[in-house]
Amino acid sequence: MKLVICHLYPDLMNIYGDRGNVIALAKRCLWRGIDVEVKSLGLGDKVEPGAYDIFFMGGGQDKEQVMVSHDLYETKGETIRREIEQGACALVICGGYQLFGNFYRPAEGEELPGIGVFDAYTIAGSKRFIGNVFVETCLDGRKTTVVGFENHSGKTYLGKNERPLGEIIVGYGNNGEDKTEGAVHLGAIGTYLHGSLLPKNPELADFLIRKALKRTYPGRDIEALDDSVENLAHKHAIKRAKKTH
Ligand code: GLN
Repeated sequence: MKLVICHLYPDLMNIYGDRGNVIALAKRCLWRGIDVEVKSLGLGDKVEPGAYDIFFMGGGQDKEQVMVSHDLYETKGETIRREIEQGACALVICGGYQLFGNFYRPAEGEELPGIGVFDAYTIAGSKRFIGNVFVETCLDGRKTTVVGFENHSGKTYLGKNERPLGEIIVGYGNNGEDKTEGAVHLGAIGTYLHGSLLPKNPELADFLIRKALKRTYPGRDIEALDDSVENLAHKHAIKRAKKTH
């Protein structure tokens, strides 16, 4: 088996070590004997239909978002949207998440176009939401938790039919108002959680790997790994989140 990961704008959209999510996905595949290929796409690069199993885009400050938003919208957006409708997965973090919605209106400058994977929009708030976050979610019918770190001024509001990744237990999440965090549309997950996210959330990592492999290898499952270290980090992050809010 092989998984192909498309890393979008790795040089521009990678704050708080978000590239660690690509490393975690790759490692969790390689530890299972699944081959992995990571391809980077930057400004001007086109998305080859059918070539990728998972799209990844990290976070970025408004400046970097301005630099990538029109390119994402004009050269990649339609294909990525279609690929996700046809079974590809995505994990997009914070600034990347905002640009996978319908638009992002920063505090200054023009409104940035989003590619509409999520029925959501983001407007800059007056307060920065910073801190450790703890979310309750349900992955493949199993209740679980997700932990991470947030730092954003953007407030994201989901369309009435869009599913959040989870419910905020500690932290601000999408907008600090409706207790939602992130968004899920088919195999695409958007979230404000940096960390990087996946090393401390092995269940979420495996949810994405399982879903991404399904399109090419239907019926094939992945075996469990020894996640004792990851789960220890997860539990510690929950304790820390509870203490800091
Ligand atoms: N610039 C966006 C905001 O401040 C996203 C920041 C980020 O990716 N951490 O909301």
